[in-house]
Amino acid sequence: MKITYLTLSLFSSLVVMGLKSETMNKEPVAFDTTQIDRSVLPCNNFYRHANGNWIDKNPVPTTESRWSCFNVLTKENEAKLQTILEEVIKGKHKKGTTHQLISDFYKSALDSAEREKTGLAPLQTILKKIVSAGSKSDLVNLYPQLLQMGVRIPLSVYISRDRKNSEQYITSISQSGIGLPNRDYYLKKDEKFEKIREQYVDHINVIMALAGFEPISGQAILSLETKIATAQWSITEQRDPYKTYNKKATKLVADHYPMVNLIGLLEGIRLSDAQDIIVGQPTYFENLNKIIEETSLNDWKSYHIWHFLGSFASHINDAFEEEDFRFYSTILRGTKEMKPRKERILNTINGMLGEPMGQLFVAKYFPESAKMYISSMIENLRSAYRESIMNLRWMGDTTKQKALKKLETFTYKVGYPDEWKDYSKLEIKKKGYLQNVINTRIFGYKFMTNKLGKPVDKKEWGMSPQTVNAYYSSSGNEIVFPAGLLQPPFFHISFDDAINYGGIGGVIGHEFTHGFDDQGSKFDGEGNLSNWWTDADRERFGALTKRLAEQYSGYEPLPGMYINGEMTLGENIADLGGLTLAFAALKKQLAGKEPGLIDDYNWQQRFYLGWANVWKQTIREDELKNRLITDVHSPGEYRVLGPLANIKEFGNAFGCKDCKMQKPEAEMIKIW
Ligand SMILES: [Zn+2]
Repeated sequence: MKITYLTLSLFSSLVVMGLKSETMNKEPVAFDTTQIDRSVLPCNNFYRHANGNWIDKNPVPTTESRWSCFNVLTKENEAKLQTILEEVIKGKHKKGTTHQLISDFYKSALDSAEREKTGLAPLQTILKKIVSAGSKSDLVNLYPQLLQMGVRIPLSVYISRDRKNSEQYITSISQSGIGLPNRDYYLKKDEKFEKIREQYVDHINVIMALAGFEPISGQAILSLETKIATAQWSITEQRDPYKTYNKKATKLVADHYPMVNLIGLLEGIRLSDAQDIIVGQPTYFENLNKIIEETSLNDWKSYHIWHFLGSFASHINDAFEEEDFRFYSTILRGTKEMKPRKERILNTINGMLGEPMGQLFVAKYFPESAKMYISSMIENLRSAYRESIMNLRWMGDTTKQKALKKLETFTYKVGYPDEWKDYSKLEIKKKGYLQNVINTRIFGYKFMTNKLGKPVDKKEWGMSPQTVNAYYSSSGNEIVFPAGLLQPPFFHISFDDAINYGGIGGVIGHEFTHGFDDQGSKFDGEGNLSNWWTDADRERFGALTKRLAEQYSGYEPLPGMYINGEMTLGENIADLGGLTLAFAALKKQLAGKEPGLIDDYNWQQRFYLGWANVWKQTIREDELKNRLITDVHSPGEYRVLGPLANIKEFGNAFGCKDCKMQKPEAEMIKIW
C-alpha cells in the first residue's frame, strides 16, 4: 500500500508542475459553492442541497432535451473539435489520410446547395428495387444491402467476442426493426403513448410524401411494427446473458426461420464462414418468421421504404431533416429547436468518423500527464476493492478467492487507443455528402464483419476518445476511460483529492463494479460466461440486489411513472459500489492526513459534493418519460439519492440523524 501511495504523490506533484503553464490563466474551480441551495438541508435531499441553485439557473437550452455536466463538457469538447475542423479544412491533404477524410466530409456537408440538388439520387437504385419487388423474398434478398447501409430491418446481424470463448469472434442475430424507441411505445395503453403513436403515423406519412409516395401507409406500418414489438423481448429480459446466448449451427437456425433467408443474408454480408450463430431471442425469430409470412407484400414494401428513407432523413435535405427533427427530437424528447447547422454537421462527422476526429482531438488537447494520474487512481481503487472483498460479510471464502482473482485480471484503457483504426480505404469526396454518409456506414459495417475468423483485437476501443463517458466490457474484463471525460468537473490535476475521488473516482469505481453487478458477475476474469460462485453466495447476492431493485422501484420521478428497478439494477449496483469504493480509495490516498477545510467543507463532505456535482441535471418532461422506459441508468437525482440512502459514512460526514434521505442503519444495503 505504501508504494502505491508514494508513487501517486510523486505523480501528483510532477504533474501539477507540468500542467501549470498550460492552465495558468484559467484554473478550473473544483466545486463551485454558489450552486448550493442552503435552504435544503444536506440530510434531507443532498442532490438538491448540492445543486439546487445550479438547477434553478440552468433550464434546459432550447436545442437540448436535458442539460447536465455531461452536456456541458460535451459542448466544450465540440468547440475544440470545431476548431480542429476549421483548421483542417484550410489545408491540402493526401487521399486516405485522416485529414483528407475529415476535410472533405466537412466540405461536402457545408455545401447545402449541392445537398438540395442531389436529394434522393444516391438512394434511388435501392428504392427502386424495394418498390419493384415482386415477392417477399425479393425484399428479403435486399437485407444484406440494407444492413450494411445502416438501414433498419427486422433483425440485426453483428460480430462480437463470443461470450463463452472470449478469444474468438462470433456472429449473432438479434431483434430489431421498430422506429419508436422501444417496444413499450407500441404496447403501453395510456393516452400519452397513444398520442405518440398517432404522431408517428403522421410522421411516416410526411416522410413518404416528401419522397413522392402517397402518404397513406403510416397506419399499416404502425400495425406491422406493433406485431414486431409484441414479439420482442423487453430490455429487462435482454439483460440476461444466458437467455440471450443460444448458440447453434447456422444451418439449423436457417432451416428454422426459412422466411428470413439467413444463408443468403450471411453470404451477402460476407459471413458465409459463420458455422455457428448466436440467436439473441429465439421466440422473437419464431414470431418474425410468421409475421413475414402473414403480412402482405404491399405492407412490407411500405415498411422498407419508410425505414430506408427514415434512416437517411437527417441527411437528405432540409425538408427531410426538419421533419425528422420534428418527430424524433421535439415530439419524443421535447427539444424545441435545432442546433445551428455547423454544430449539426460537427455532430454527424464526430459520430461517423469518431476515431479520426479523436486522433486529432487528443493530439491537440489531451495532456499525457492525466493518463498517469488516472492510472494510479485506478490502482488505488483496485486496492480498495481488494480489501472490500476480503472483508465482505455475506460472501464465503471460496467465492472471495474467485472474486479477487477476477479483480486482479481487470485491465484498463485511459485516454485514447494505442493503435488507431485504419480508415485509408474509406472513400470520402468533397462533393456528395449523402454518398459520403453511405460510404462511411458501409465501411463501418465491413470493418465489423471483417473480424470474423481473425484473432480478437484487444487494443480496439468501443468508444471514441473525445466521448464524455466510460465503459466496462465483460468480454474483455476491462474498464475504459476516454480522454473526453478526463476533464473538469470530473477531474483535474489541480483539484483537491476529495473532489477528484468523488468525481472521476466514483466513475472508476462504478465501472469496476460493473464487473461485479448482477450481469457482470456472471463473467469470469477471462471474460467468459461461467459461474464462479457457490450457490449459497449467489443466493445471498441475489437477495441483496433484489432489495436494491425494490428501493429504486419505489422512486417516482414523474407522477405515476416509477423507476424500473430491474431494468436499472446493474447501473444502480455500480453506483452504490462505485461510491463506496471511491471513498475507501480516497482514505487510502490521504493515508491518515487530514486536509484542511475548503469553503467550510471538510474532505468527507467535499467527496460527496463531488459525486452530487457530476449528476446534476435538468431535463424536459418528454425526455424524462422517454428515459424512464428506455434508459438503463436512473435519472441524475437518483444516482445521488439512491446510493447515499445506503452509505453510513455520508450521514456521518454531514451529522445526519433520523434524516429523510438515509435508511435506518440496519436496513442499509451494502453489496461491494
Ligand atoms: Zn454504468
